[in-house]
Amino acid sequence: MTNPQKAETKQFEAEVSQLLQLMINNLYGNKEVFLRELISNASDACDRLRFAALEDEDLYEDDPDLEIYVDWDADAGTLTVKDNGIGMSRSDVSENIGTIAKSGTQEFMQALEEKDEIDSQVIGQFGVGFYSAFIVSERVELETRRAGEPAERGVRWSSDGRGEYTIETIEREERGTTITLHLREEEQEILDYATLKGIVEKYSDHVSFPIKMPAQDEDEEGWETVNRASALWMRRSSDISDEEYTEFYKHISRDFNDPLEWTHAHIEGRLKFSMLFYIPSERPFDMAAGVDSEHRGVKLYVRRVFIMDDAEMFLPRYLRFVRGVVDSDDLDLNVSRESLQENRVVSAMKKTATNRVLDMLEEMAEDPETYQTFWNQFGNLLKEGAVEDHARRERLSGLLRFATTHTDQPDQTVSLDDYIERMGEEQEKIYYVTADSFASAKSSPHLEIFRDKDIEVLLMYDRIDEWLANHLAEYQDHELQSVAVGDLDIDDVGDEQDDPDRDEADEDHADLIAALQASLGQRVEQVRTTRRLRDSPACLVAQEGGMSKHFERMLRDAGQQVPDRKPILEVNPDHPIIERLGEKVEEGEDVGEWADVLFDQAWLSEGGQLDDPGTFVQRMNKLMIRLLGESDSDIITEV
Ligand code: ADP
Ligand code: MG
Repeated sequence: MTNPQKAETKQFEAEVSQLLQLMINNLYGNKEVFLRELISNASDACDRLRFAALEDEDLYEDDPDLEIYVDWDADAGTLTVKDNGIGMSRSDVSENIGTIAKSGTQEFMQALEEKDEIDSQVIGQFGVGFYSAFIVSERVELETRRAGEPAERGVRWSSDGRGEYTIETIEREERGTTITLHLREEEQEILDYATLKGIVEKYSDHVSFPIKMPAQDEDEEGWETVNRASALWMRRSSDISDEEYTEFYKHISRDFNDPLEWTHAHIEGRLKFSMLFYIPSERPFDMAAGVDSEHRGVKLYVRRVFIMDDAEMFLPRYLRFVRGVVDSDDLDLNVSRESLQENRVVSAMKKTATNRVLDMLEEMAEDPETYQTFWNQFGNLLKEGAVEDHARRERLSGLLRFATTHTDQPDQTVSLDDYIERMGEEQEKIYYVTADSFASAKSSPHLEIFRDKDIEVLLMYDRIDEWLANHLAEYQDHELQSVAVGDLDIDDVGDEQDDPDRDEADEDHADLIAALQASLGQRVEQVRTTRRLRDSPACLVAQEGGMSKHFERMLRDAGQQVPDRKPILEVNPDHPIIERLGEKVEEGEDVGEWADVLFDQAWLSEGGQLDDPGTFVQRMNKLMIRLLGESDSDIITEV
């Protein structure tokens, strides 16, 4: 066993070194933010000590005034940030400094490697706090002692940020953490009062603990407080500048990018609380990497005392992209996470908070460009909301956006209200098509008649869309109807067309239908002529009340049992292939091979995968050989 007291030299985890380099390169243009990050950590450490001391007053060690100090030594080229917050034990230091414990980091780094160009927005929203010190430093030293631990349990950590660090146990009287940056020669020009004070004021004024610097005033001895040192969320919004809101966001969210929008309110009445919520401009990297992190970015304060991070109980799950603070006057200081789950005050706060966020989104939606930015990042979560939140379904539905057959790009979207406003007089239903991608939704054969009649159809191609459409069922009294399910009743809708009468057409093609039916046998419920197609020979339709093939496939992929309902094959009697097949049947020829090809083709154009692609290809080849085998003149006279 190694002596735990001994100094050790360790390697950063591989991704830390990598990320560090990326950070330094990307943030250099804005390098003074390192100070914001160190002060932000100091402020968190003070918050955490105050919280821990609720249970154990002794942790204050007769030093209850929590403060942050910024000091420098121009001759030595050093800058020091010191706090008397919670501090760290040796294992805390190894765990927190030198590793990146955030879920999804690995995935994130991989995603970055696959990209040629690294977008500084992506890096920015990753925010690696402490490490930003290396943007300006050739060496960083950290000394700390955890509150409540004896002086001989101090820790010193030191690194040049190039892959290794040393850690050792030291004697340290002071509680909390001192971080000393040895600035690179060319960075030492910031080491003067005015510059440092300017940086602190710009980025850290919102910090609710006093930030102190050596007093410059002749008469004043010692230290002066350079920030406002009051909780930003308790102030009136008219007194807070956009810059202050933005910097506060960066502090609580660990995001280096500006927020997209925020909402701030003080509630007084039956309940008394304040809330400040932000929408990030970029999907957090762990959400983007598909990791559904448990991180919910709301901090809970009770009467200005920090209680917990990730207070997920104040907003519904689908609003998990929201970052912010709630500060309650009604809750107990010693609440536990569990006790909050069933708490009546909390559920009343949650209701108000949720509506407040939706108010903000509705307001944002009045500016379609900003809303589109939001929608591209977080739209899927609102779809989740429309599925889950029954009570607010109508409201959430109003916030949804969809690409349609009338827009050209996936990111040109319309609301359901816009859609309804554009509907023709006779149109009652909201039509949608589902598929795996924008491209396959757009080229679905089911849309042919809708194009002809100039009826707009929503293009749904997100994984969640089928669920959404099924749960939504209707909006503003207009039923949602999949274009791939059941019989379409659109004779009177849209531009007038010479709509074929199905009964007549079925009768005219009775022999062909019977032949196809006979040879497809178990694969279909029924064969009939179509009212949907213009350019394609055939398509598959779900039975009335059934689910589209696409949805069935999704459920199967998700490991669910799906009732085996056979589709209906609809054929287009005006298509040359179907016309010729009709003739072949009349001539007494077997069309079995053709029937299978039609079916498989229709299945493929739904985005389906063939169980047996080999057989499909063989069949196609056989048919092609047969066609090629006939002399050219035969083919020409036949057509
Ligand atoms: P973040 O603040 O997002 O967690 P940082 O890189 O800024 O990431 O800090 C990493 C961790 O190091 C913090 O979560 C905290 O546990 C610890 N830490 C950093 N600075 C301090 C400090 N001054 N006092 C106590 N702990 C600290
Ligand atoms: Mg931090």
